[in-house]
Amino acid sequence: MKIAKGLSSLIIVAAIMFSCNTEKEEKESDLERINNEVKNNSKAYLTLQNMTTEIGHRLTGSENGKKAEQYTYDLFKSYGFENVQFHEFEVEAWARDSVKLSVDNESIPEVVSLGHSPVSADVEAPLVDVGNGLRADFEANKEAVKDKIALVYIGILPDSGEGLNNIHRSEKTALAIEYGAKGIMIINQVPGGVLLTGTASVTGKLIDIPAVCITYEDGMRLKSALAEGESLDAHIKMTNKSEVIKSRNVIATLPGAELTKENILVGGHLDSWDLATGAIDNGIGIAAILDMARTFKALNLQPKRNIQFVMFMGEEQGLLGSKALVKRMNESNDLEKVSYMMNIDMSGNPKGYNASGREEMMPVFEAIGEKIKAVDTTYANENANRAGLHSDHQTFMMEGVPVVGVVSQLDREVYDYYHSNGDDFDLVNEEHLKNTVRFGAMFLWELANAEKIPAKKLSFEQTREFMIEQGLKEELELGNEWKWGQ
Ligand SMILES: [Zn+2]
Repeated sequence: MKIAKGLSSLIIVAAIMFSCNTEKEEKESDLERINNEVKNNSKAYLTLQNMTTEIGHRLTGSENGKKAEQYTYDLFKSYGFENVQFHEFEVEAWARDSVKLSVDNESIPEVVSLGHSPVSADVEAPLVDVGNGLRADFEANKEAVKDKIALVYIGILPDSGEGLNNIHRSEKTALAIEYGAKGIMIINQVPGGVLLTGTASVTGKLIDIPAVCITYEDGMRLKSALAEGESLDAHIKMTNKSEVIKSRNVIATLPGAELTKENILVGGHLDSWDLATGAIDNGIGIAAILDMARTFKALNLQPKRNIQFVMFMGEEQGLLGSKALVKRMNESNDLEKVSYMMNIDMSGNPKGYNASGREEMMPVFEAIGEKIKAVDTTYANENANRAGLHSDHQTFMMEGVPVVGVVSQLDREVYDYYHSNGDDFDLVNEEHLKNTVRFGAMFLWELANAEKIPAKKLSFEQTREFMIEQGLKEELELGNEWKWGQ
């Protein structure tokens, strides 16, 4: 016993010495721990590489889409999440089938249908150059374009003069329909045989005329032939599918310790278009969110508020997954619990975060940024405050939920491959992806642990005012999304 006592006091001394050491380690702040965990053990790059090689594209409603849903579900589980759920939804979704294009009987093999083109179309008509496809261009070719196939550039041509604002491909298509065109061919602006897809519909409903995208090279060749006075006949033949499909959002919950009735939701869309593997749109967002989730679990961190990690499907066909989730949350009164929604879509290497029109959050963002800067001085902490549309945050913003996005600084060439057949893993910058995870996880951690979140959910009427103030009314009306009357 005596010996044991002596031994035990020795052990105590050793234990105290040892605990001094661990105490020193524990002094490391949560943000430092998060930063080091990501720096040393991030799986984001590898996950994205695996996901793109093992699955390929992640089109909503396809077999690949289902595999991607399962893949992320399994990953959350492997990180130790107990509460991981599939939220199934059923919706009508568009998918391409076949497309053939020829001009003067010469086949143009590099062509893709744009989203929401008719289920079946077979039109042959003279081709008319409508420049940039802006309203002024259609107005100037008013007589010539009727019953013809309109050839328009997706961007603004370099020789167009100053001060022109481009409009979306779907808006150019809407103008073609308004001016009586039988079809539309949109020329991509990225040289090198790059094809782009995406919707050609402003409302998300099927359009009446076939819309296709062709390469920059083919487009420029046709433009100069027309400019030289040649008359060209174009023939577009296509079939597409518009069917009710089933898809699943995937949601993993990290339970909070104190404010368990408040959820911070961090999400991005898992689905992609089908021309490539969607490594950028939105593989980088998904890989970052998964790695943030992994990091919190690896460090055994428990936030004050619950954090929900969401993989949305159906974003590309019209925010279908986020709409399904919001509907479900409205029915179960869970939407009231969402105190913040953070969206990561095609964004990364953050220099700050976008308060999306909620001015009252700017001091909070600044303060969080200062804390991140204290861990890593390379973080710029340059925050923005303007609301935008067209990703899953829109669905939550429309309900008055405060949303935050990334102030991104990815390379220009990454964006060039947006929605294209070149959106593959070779575009991914490992360091930038790690930064998205590090800064994003630190930001999210601070938001989930904030004493108070000044931005509150807006009422129906307040949301209406907010949308008008942010200058979004016209765009929402154009897309048939304005729900507040006149
Ligand atoms: Zn996207």
